[in-house]
This record gives sequence, C-alpha cells and structure tokens, in this order.
Amino acid sequence: MSSHLTSYVTLVCTSGVFNLYLALSTFLKRRHYTGIVNIFVLYTTSIAVYCFASAFSLLSKTILQIKLWTIVQYTGMPISAPLGLLFILQYLGFNITRRMYLLLLGIPCISFIMVATNDLHHFFYKVYEIDPTLGAPYLHTEIGIWYAVHGIFTFACMLIAFLLVASRWRETAKAYRPQLISLLYGQFIPMFTAFIYLMGLTPKGIDPVPMVLWLSSILYLWAIRSSRMFSLMPVAKEVIFNSIGDGVIVLDKSNRLIEFNQAIRDMFPELDASVFGSGFHEVWFRLSGGAFPFQLEAVPFTREVQLMVQDAARTYQIRALPLQYNAAGKGVLIIVSDITELKILQIQLEHQAYYDELTQIYNRRAFFQQCNREFAEAQNAHSAFTVILMDVDYFKRVNDTYGHHIGDQLLMHVVKVFQTELGEGALFARYGGEEFVFALSGYTPSEGEALADHLRISIEERQLLTAEGAVSVTVSCGVAGAAQCAGETLDGLLNKADKALYAAKKEGRNRVRVYKEEANAV
Ligand code: GH3
Ligand code: MG
Ligand code: MG
Repeated sequence: MSSHLTSYVTLVCTSGVFNLYLALSTFLKRRHYTGIVNIFVLYTTSIAVYCFASAFSLLSKTILQIKLWTIVQYTGMPISAPLGLLFILQYLGFNITRRMYLLLLGIPCISFIMVATNDLHHFFYKVYEIDPTLGAPYLHTEIGIWYAVHGIFTFACMLIAFLLVASRWRETAKAYRPQLISLLYGQFIPMFTAFIYLMGLTPKGIDPVPMVLWLSSILYLWAIRSSRMFSLMPVAKEVIFNSIGDGVIVLDKSNRLIEFNQAIRDMFPELDASVFGSGFHEVWFRLSGGAFPFQLEAVPFTREVQLMVQDAARTYQIRALPLQYNAAGKGVLIIVSDITELKILQIQLEHQAYYDELTQIYNRRAFFQQCNREFAEAQNAHSAFTVILMDVDYFKRVNDTYGHHIGDQLLMHVVKVFQTELGEGALFARYGGEEFVFALSGYTPSEGEALADHLRISIEERQLLTAEGAVSVTVSCGVAGAAQCAGETLDGLLNKADKALYAAKKEGRNRVRVYKEEANAV
C-alpha cells in the first residue's frame, strides 16, 4: 500500500473514531442533555459509518469489494447532511414538520437504493470502474442523473445549515459563540472539501470528505466541553419575542409598522403580514375603529385605552418607548398589555375600600376623604357648611326581637329612604353600626335642621315590611354648623354634632337637636 494511501486511510479512520466517540459519549450521557442530542447521535453515527466504510473501500483490491463498501458507505453518507441540517434546525429552535422530515430523509433513502442497484440502471454512476492507470482502490467514475440530484441536495443541506447558523451570529450572546463557531465550521469543513473535490483540486479517484471530518468532530467536542452545548443552549430571540405575553409592535422612524409579535396577533386577530410597512395610525384605525388617542412623538409614555375587541370592551395599557434599532434608525417600541381583568379587580378593590358592604353607600374612610375637601372649599369660600349625625333609636331591640338579619334589612331600608329623599349627589355615609353622617355644603344649621327633621319623619312614617311583620324605627339627629373661624375643623364640627345627637337621645329620641355655640351646650 502506498504511503499516500496509508495516510488517507489513517485520516478517514481518525474521522470514523472521533465520530463514533462523539455518538457513543453523547448517547450515554443523553439523560443529562436536552432532547436535541438524539438527532446529533444519529448524525455522528451516520458519519462514522460513512468514514469506516470509506476506509474499507480504500483497503479493497477488487471492484466487487469496492462496490460492496460503497453501498455500506451510502447507508451513512447521504443521510448525514440532512441529519446535520435537522440538528441545526432543532438547535436554532425551528419547528420541524413531518413533511420536512419526509423530504429531508426521503432523498437519501432513494440515493442509497440507487447506489445499491446501480448495476441495473446506471442512474447513479454511468461508469464505475477501477482507474485504469492508478489501479485499485482508485476509481474512474462518470456520474449519472441521480448522482447530480444527490450531490446538489447534500451540498444544499450543508449550505443552508451553515447560513442559518451564520445568520444567528450577531444576536447570540458571547457565551454561546463557541457553540456557533463549532456548528459553522462543522458544516463548512465538509462543504468546502466537497467543493474543491468537485473542482478537481483533490487527489484523483478518491473521496476526500471523510478525511477531514475529524476536524468537525474536534470542534463539536470543544463546544460540548467549553460552552456546554446540549446542556445550555441559546434561545432564538425570535422565540423569546413571540413568547412574550404582552403585545409588541415596532415602528420605524416614519412610524411605519416593521415588526410585531404573536401576542399582539392574539389580541387583534386581524393583524397579519399585510400590515408591514403601513403607517401605524392607519393600522390602529383598522384594529380599533378609531384614531390612536396619543401622540407618538411624546415617547416615552404609558397610557390606558378602552377598546371594543370582538364585541367585548377591553382595557389595554399602552407603553411607548423610544427605540434605537440600528445606527441610523430611531423608532418606537409599543408594548400593549391587556389589563382588563386587572382593571376589574382594581375597581372591585376600590369599591371595597370606599363602600360599605351592607348598604353600598360610602364608608367612614370615603366620607372623610370627600368631606375634608368639601369642608375646606366651604371654609375658603366663607360659605355655610352643616353636618348631621343620625343614630337609629333602640336598634339593639330590633336585633333582639327580630334577629340580626332583620336588623340588616332595616339598615338597608333606612338607607333607601335617605336616597329617595335626598336624591343623587348628596354626601352621606355609614358612620358606624347604626349611625349615619350627612355633609351639607352651603346649608345653614337651620336648613340642616329642617332636612334632618324631614328625614326623621320619612323614616318614622315608612315601615319595613318583613316576613316577621312590619317593623318601624325612629332616628335621632344632631346638627352642627361650621363656625367661620380659622380654628374650625371637620373633627371639631362632627364632635359638636355628636353632642347635639347625645342631647336628642337624652331628651327622649326621635328628635333633632342643633348644637348651639353660645351656650356651649345644646
Ligand atoms: P340607642 O337608641 O341609644 O342608640 O340604642 P341602640 O340600641 O340603637 O344603641 P346601641 O349602641 O346599644 O346598639 C346598637 C346596636 O346596633 C348594637 C349592634 O349589635 C347593632 N348593630 C351595629 N351594626 C349592625 C349591623 O350591621 N347589623 C345589625 N343587624 N346590627 C348592627
Ligand atoms: Mg342607636
Ligand atoms: Mg349607636
């Protein structure tokens, strides 16, 4: 055997051993790795088969032996390039459909059958014989039609895989670059060797590709060891972009729509690829049926908007941020979050915080918030301001006689009477258990007294009809008017009303008493 041939066989066997090692070691550790290793194991196994069969064919002496080893070689070689492509597709996070699998793995199967049955049709090799000048194992071949199909297909698989990896270079974090380098060169080395072989720049009569495949294996090993390929892998930014739950829209510097993610499509199903390049205002009008209510020039901003989407009112939060998407281009990033449920919850919580659960009127906290403002305004304007404190008489007896549930109904009944008599807009609240407070801006104490008496009579006259019979109650009221002096406070005023109420109770209940400043008593 010539020294050249010895080095060819050694190189081919080295490639075989390296790929076999990669296949076995990855297979044995597959439980520690992500699912992507399965295809990598198949990929490296197919290369190992290709290399070893190639070595045996180089050691062959007769055309029959060479043909036999070529057939074995074709159980691995044609499938290795599409397996490599499938591996890269999986690595980059592409969704691989069954049709893609069938197409990518179908052609290699046909190539294998063509090689195995070539003597019958000569579609793969028109001529396949030992080179008359160099002798075995060197071959003289003339390629057939299917060889061309197989060659183009194999080359295309490697090229596509290479270009796909290269396209991810810029957006991949530095930590993952060794993985990309190994995948890039892992594809480039056989592709380049096949290319110069076809150009006739390699030794005649033998396939040089298996001689260089050990280089690709070393790169894969490096990637597995140095940057933990198979345990930690970069996630394509596209995948992240489309997995964000909030809708994202990207506008260029002329406010034309240049990008959007899956979430915004889910929110507005009318949004499709046809809107790329359209002005944002026009797109918004199409989606919402109205003009975009904010100035895009005012970025950054956060606003809320209510839209009817598929006949349902929904609330969206719109965040617009300036975006520098390349050296020259300044655009706008719009993040749309559906906050409908959050808004409903917020309204419910606000309601619970400010409204009394039983009577659904303002509670003490809401009363003070509102009343402090009205009191301050009245004091500033030197206008009259009067409060009424009202307490249901002998309410404990109602509870004791009819039960707590009737007591509750009675409280609601009393509130209903107030609402009917006062109309909307009057400020009154549940002050405590069976006690209510009224704030009357612009009312003098005597006007307040008149109103309190009117309410008192209304309650007295209107019985509550219950399953236990008709229940009637009376109320006592304390009225106090704000003094037009600097020291007057709302607390002080309520204190005076409380004293007046106490007097009304003391004097027999079911009456209204007004606090009298001069006497310092009622
Ligand atoms: P007075 O004429 O002196 O005001 O007598 P009263 O019985 O009304 O006064 P008291 O303060 O002794 O009793 C008030 C009662 O109101 C006691 C409490 O159980 C009842 N009460 C407070 N809040 C509620 C409520 O939400 N529902 C019911 N059913 N009862 C309540
Ligand atoms: Mg009472
Ligand atoms: Mg009371």
